[in-house]
Amino acid sequence: MSDRKGLLIIFSGPSGCGKDTVLREMLETNDDLRVSISMTTRKIRDGEIDGMDYYFVSREYFEKKIKEGSMLEYAEYAGNYYGTPKAPVDDMINDGINVILEIEVQGAEKIRKLYPDAVSVFLMPPSLAELEERLRKRGTDDEETISHRLFIAEQEIRRATEFQYAVVNSEVEKAVSDFQEILNSEKHKISRNPNLISEVINNV
Ligand code: 5GP
Repeated sequence: MSDRKGLLIIFSGPSGCGKDTVLREMLETNDDLRVSISMTTRKIRDGEIDGMDYYFVSREYFEKKIKEGSMLEYAEYAGNYYGTPKAPVDDMINDGINVILEIEVQGAEKIRKLYPDAVSVFLMPPSLAELEERLRKRGTDDEETISHRLFIAEQEIRRATEFQYAVVNSEVEKAVSDFQEILNSEKHKISRNPNLISEVINNV
């Protein structure tokens, strides 16, 4: 399995459904896993770090990067640009590192077309009502933003049919172990390990 390329994993789900928490746990227990750092034009929130959570940039800078062809994908979400810088993702995949793209559904659609081999996982809140409560508790958005995000969330949940896997985040530990099972199964697909058979046969 040594010269295997890294997996590209699309991880989507409505804002506030717990993607960051699930991802943090996944990263702690998987040495071969990284998250791509996106670029965005939205304002930095309290506690976020530029260059770690996102690269926070101006609209002008973002549009320049689009024109240069440096973005793997990008989308407008709730009035801001969000996108995946291309070069780091390609480098990691070629180095055999598994890369997670935490992106919304329009970006997911573009990635699936570009990388038909990508694994796609949709994280569901237990219900829309619960999602609303979580967004309010987070306290980072005003009422207008919350209702806009809830409206988008419903549209996104309806598009979960476009994904290969769905994980319901009622309990973080369970969601993490479900995600881990998906990752393990994907890694063991014969099609992803083209040299395995000859390695086994030739190493008698
Ligand atoms: P938030 O503002 O809550 O950090 O993110 C809003 C939405 O943008 C989330 O659904 C998140 O997954 C998505 N998002 C973050 N980075 C990217 C990206 O690089 N590309 C796309 N298409 N969506 C992204």
